[in-house]
Amino acid sequence: MRWKIPLSEPDITAKEIRAVGGVLKTLYLSMGSKLEEFEKLMAKFTGVKYSVVVSSGTSGLHLIIKALGISRGDEVITTPFSFISSSNCILFEGAKPVFVDIDEKTFNIDVKKIEEKITKKTKAILAVDIFSQPADWNELKKIAKKHKLYLIEDSAEALGSEYKGKKCGSFGDAAIFAFYPNKQITTGEGGVILTNNKKIYYLCQSMANQGRKVLNGKWLEHVRLGYNYRLDEMSCALGIAQMERIKEILKKRTMVAELYIKKLKGIEDLDIPYIKPGNKLSWFVYVIKLAERLAGKKRDKIIKEMAKRGIQCSNYFQTIHLQPFYKKEFFYKAGDLPVAENTSERTLALPFFNDLTEKELDFVVKNLEEIIGNIR
Ligand SMILES: *Cc1c(COP(=O)(O)O)cnc(C)c1O
Repeated sequence: MRWKIPLSEPDITAKEIRAVGGVLKTLYLSMGSKLEEFEKLMAKFTGVKYSVVVSSGTSGLHLIIKALGISRGDEVITTPFSFISSSNCILFEGAKPVFVDIDEKTFNIDVKKIEEKITKKTKAILAVDIFSQPADWNELKKIAKKHKLYLIEDSAEALGSEYKGKKCGSFGDAAIFAFYPNKQITTGEGGVILTNNKKIYYLCQSMANQGRKVLNGKWLEHVRLGYNYRLDEMSCALGIAQMERIKEILKKRTMVAELYIKKLKGIEDLDIPYIKPGNKLSWFVYVIKLAERLAGKKRDKIIKEMAKRGIQCSNYFQTIHLQPFYKKEFFYKAGDLPVAENTSERTLALPFFNDLTEKELDFVVKNLEEIIGNIR
């Protein structure tokens, strides 16, 4: 189906096309200077010491779990309101995700409910900056320190977001960004690990490249189990070109978000996104929360009606614990995490991308208002 207005769209200019074409002409297509340059850029932007560019956000999360030695018998506290990979990465190593319910306004893990879920087996807390909203990092750090837990930041949706003036991706022992085409910047597929910890850096770099040992910049023998989680030079060049435009990209996203805020104000039965004081959002998506009376099937009907008019919306996110695979494996059921479940029945992602015009946005808002009105 061709949408009149899609849910999301990458922002690719002549600069990106030139950058990728330039790499192809060099015939140097993997493990070259673009990778190094992209890694340096990402670490600098985030304000951390080290970064490892990898093949996806998910592979980055997997390597962090491995680097921290999390394995069978361990538990990791995390959020059920996220994209599935923030929890799957824990399963990859045989550890168990322990879900803590979320805050109804920020949609992030509810820090007040974490301590009651900590056991002798708990090794780490993996928090997500969901929809670009920074999690409560000061409080998370306090809890992690008190109980001697590792802290992992899934910042896949929050490149450019800030928490109390500090960039997301800089919190915890290690963090990731992801570069799938719907994220703030894209490399097609791709991701990056960020850390200030030299040991984590070293382990991730080695495991991303088949477990090779690195010495003085030279790859030596294979000293541990590793993977091919490398990102090729074309993708790195694309990432560099996108990062060179990051200010412009974030500015465009802010402008679209502010336009939505202005135009949606006053429409009954929906809440525009909450911005917690101290947080600055880089706007991964634009997600509204519908009134209770429009939850579930009615929300789904709104999505269908919008689709009929050529407007692509989505039900971000279905909770992880109620995904068929998790229900089957772990016996989760509806009612286990009520705030996350209620939120997931009421959220609605509207079309959101850098070049969404005011005219298109007006079309989205007008149709949304009309459809909500019809359901009344
Ligand atoms: C996109 C995303 C990821 C994973 O990124 P991929 O690059 O698609 O593997 C992880 N966590 C969250 C919250 C995401 O939104």
